Amino acid sequence: MGPTNPPPPPPPSATKIRRTTSAGGGSGSIILDKYHLGRLLGRGSFAKVYLARLLENSDSDVAIKVIDKAATVDAAMEPRIIREVSAMRRLHQHPNILKLHEVMATKSKIYLVMELAQGGELFAKLNRCRRFSEATARKYFQQVVSALRFCHQNGVFHRDIKPQNLLLDQNGLLKITDFGLSALSDQKRDGLIYTACGTPAYTAPEVVYRKGYDGEKADAWSCGVLLYVFLVGSLPFDDSNLSNMYRAMHRRSFEFPDWVSKSAKIVIYRLMDPNPNTRLSLEELIKLSWFKKSFSQENLSSQGEQKLGSEILKQSEFKYLPRVNAFDLISMSSGLNLSGLFEAELNSKEMRFTCDMGVVEIEKKVAKVGAGLGYRVEIGKGGGIRLVKGRVVLLLEIWEVAIQLWLVELKLVDGVMEFGDLQWEELKSGLADIVLSWHKEVSC
Ligand code: ADP
Ligand code: MG
Repeated sequence: MGPTNPPPPPPPSATKIRRTTSAGGGSGSIILDKYHLGRLLGRGSFAKVYLARLLENSDSDVAIKVIDKAATVDAAMEPRIIREVSAMRRLHQHPNILKLHEVMATKSKIYLVMELAQGGELFAKLNRCRRFSEATARKYFQQVVSALRFCHQNGVFHRDIKPQNLLLDQNGLLKITDFGLSALSDQKRDGLIYTACGTPAYTAPEVVYRKGYDGEKADAWSCGVLLYVFLVGSLPFDDSNLSNMYRAMHRRSFEFPDWVSKSAKIVIYRLMDPNPNTRLSLEELIKLSWFKKSFSQENLSSQGEQKLGSEILKQSEFKYLPRVNAFDLISMSSGLNLSGLFEAELNSKEMRFTCDMGVVEIEKKVAKVGAGLGYRVEIGKGGGIRLVKGRVVLLLEIWEVAIQLWLVELKLVDGVMEFGDLQWEELKSGLADIVLSWHKEVSC
């Protein structure tokens, strides 16, 4: 949103859930009145990804990730999807980050319409070659690091960097995907992230120990493991006994075969430093001569821009906004409709709304409204706030779902008997002036 001429707040009807017709959602079906689903491209831990074609334009192939809400979406999964959407929307300008064109939700499914990576998984290519030559490894590694630096500059940490989440397009350009585990920096408290995640063999030791950690340094560790895997063809630590594996990480007891060059060894060794404070950062990494060899950021970016340009022309039908803010999001009927995401799971124990104020302001407002209604305001273990009155405990959670747009949830975690419609209504009217839209059309 530009500083001048902000668009007027949308009428309430703009937030209505867009109903879509979904015929089954498997190969061969037409979904969302708009795409023909083709073959299955891959299966992830939470979704199936299909090749798809726009009905109106048979030249436009995309990949659609179909998440079956009944099978996968529980309370823990939902933030993962929101993070993935939010992270991908923030980062779509980088040539090595897979673009997200559209997000739509029906009662039973969530569809992420993405750029198609025709070359498949880098992992499959690595398996075919067993390992990469140093030049090939460096080429892919440079693209991963370049994309990750861009992520970090935009406040996103991937946290699940591994070859399975690296795809290739038809020109062999690398595309990072699967931002489900990424942490947005806005969710950090005191500069550190507190959720353990990722794939054990690629995860930095401090993440595993559930101490607060620096997402940038955690991604740098995973880059070290990735480079090792590229050059050697196997994991540096691979023990089914996790405590043995973490012991090995701490002792840095991994070995290099003869063919790994001395400079590559140094890069890996410095990235896989168990101490995040002395670990090589990506900023330091890009200055090393080993990294810089045959790397041209300009080449990469101009390649990316060209691609981006032609893609936009080809896919002009997409509601594809360069930046999404609160007003764009609410006034869009289909480009990024998150309302359906929440509908099915909402019950009388929680209320959700979108808001364009910062986290601190939201917390202040909720605390003020709560205090005015006789609640005690407490700071929870994770740093967030809780409203407590008698047996009633309400937990406040805030997610950033797009630039300048927060999804706020107040969840009743205790005192169901003492808390009814009247209490919700009191809170709702107290918060009304910061609410852009409620995520439930009937009253909570
Ligand atoms: P999950 O979050 O469930 O792990 P992923 O996003 O990693 O799902 O996707 C699962 C698999 O689907 C990938 O490993 C890949 O093989 C395939 N895939 C995902 N996105 C695309 C895409 N845009 N183009 C081609 N194949 C894809
Ligand atoms: Mg995956």
